[in-house]
Amino acid sequence: MKFFIKNYGCQMNLYDSSRMTDVLCMSGYELVQDICDAEIAIFNTCSIREKANEKLFSDLGRAKSRKFAAHQDGKKFLIIVTGCVAQAHAQELQRRASYVDIILGPQDIHGIADCIHNITADGNVDESTFNNNCITVQTNLNANNKFAHLPDNFFRRGVSEFLTIQEGCNNFCSYCCVPHTRGREYSRDVEDVLAEARRLTAMGVKEIVLLGQNVNSYAGQGPDAKIWNLARLLYTIAELNGLVRMRYTTSNPKDVTAELAKVHREVPILAPSVHLPAQSGSDRILARMNRRYSVDDYYRCVDVLMENRPDMVLTSDFIVGFPGETDDDFEKTMRFVEKIKFANAYSFKYSPRANTAAAKMDDQIPESVKSERLKALQRVLLEHQKQFNKNSVGKTVQVLFVKEGNHKNQSVGRSEYSQAVSVCDNSIGVGDLCNVKIVKTVSHSVIGMVV
Ligand code: SF4
Repeated sequence: MKFFIKNYGCQMNLYDSSRMTDVLCMSGYELVQDICDAEIAIFNTCSIREKANEKLFSDLGRAKSRKFAAHQDGKKFLIIVTGCVAQAHAQELQRRASYVDIILGPQDIHGIADCIHNITADGNVDESTFNNNCITVQTNLNANNKFAHLPDNFFRRGVSEFLTIQEGCNNFCSYCCVPHTRGREYSRDVEDVLAEARRLTAMGVKEIVLLGQNVNSYAGQGPDAKIWNLARLLYTIAELNGLVRMRYTTSNPKDVTAELAKVHREVPILAPSVHLPAQSGSDRILARMNRRYSVDDYYRCVDVLMENRPDMVLTSDFIVGFPGETDDDFEKTMRFVEKIKFANAYSFKYSPRANTAAAKMDDQIPESVKSERLKALQRVLLEHQKQFNKNSVGKTVQVLFVKEGNHKNQSVGRSEYSQAVSVCDNSIGVGDLCNVKIVKTVSHSVIGMVV
């Protein structure tokens, strides 16, 4: 059978989608890029904001019509929902989309081939199989089991690949649903991570991006029976043959240490670019968010990273309109971003999530105020991103090319500062790491020439 996967949300979902592809291809299923060619549609979902939730239901509506048409022709068409919406809203899914066949939480994806087999083994296609009322629902939050049962073999890998080293979170920031959708913090054993990293580099992967919801609180069991932190893991992975670049994401300011910052000074292939979500520039709001660091703590993180790597580049995330946020709190956020000038940052309106403390808070902010503040913040953040790219014109950066561009001889890649860079040069290609002189900026990226 042919399967199609649509991915929503974060890098960890992208990692899970590639692992589901490994599981299915190893079981004889064929990956197709267009749902029109598929017999199985998989939606790997994100529940971080209401908008992401609703996007899924409109896609499911379209898949339902495909399923109906297939059934008219006596053919099977399976609809599968995985990821954070499956974990957090399985009952709502069963109520609103009873034509969905399988619902799997993020830590049940290793069983996807077995679930499909159980449904299709009888090859029976009749009315009863149209409205399956979600025959299979698995939402067991057990990361250990997941990683123990994912296959060693990979279907296909590119130049730059994600590698999840930690999943779940114990922080319970008051706005966040992740502890409910990905469970408690789980760090994979060091040997397990190293084995996967070796398999990736053996397949020609040149850049590995280590993933965790709270990656810098990684605490994995080492082969020496000791607990290894992220710093120690990075030193070890950096020794792998063929690896030319490493990154890690997403970090939490409260877990930035001098030891981790020192790795940036001592390990040249560790990119001098850290994604460090601040969320707000107001201590009062950070406390209501239960972020457990202050604005001054954040500045100290920046200092220790810059001391070790003066060319370090920071990117971040912000939430505006958090319950209780006053004009003064918002002004503090604006002054905060003006002081740091992030190379890039993502910003969103606060979106109440089920089972989170903030959703029950008083002082919810009107949508119009949220929109106003978001517009003002995004204007400044975009200005800083453009200025960062403008300041890099004339400089030489190291670019790892990861794909071909749309134009003749064009290659696209990322600099060590996470900038999107494109060059037109027929002497280089995908997988090359080159020195590139930045010659000009375009919207959110830069253009360069190989030197
Ligand atoms: S640190 Fe906070 S925002 Fe990040 S995943 Fe954990 S609970 Fe969510």
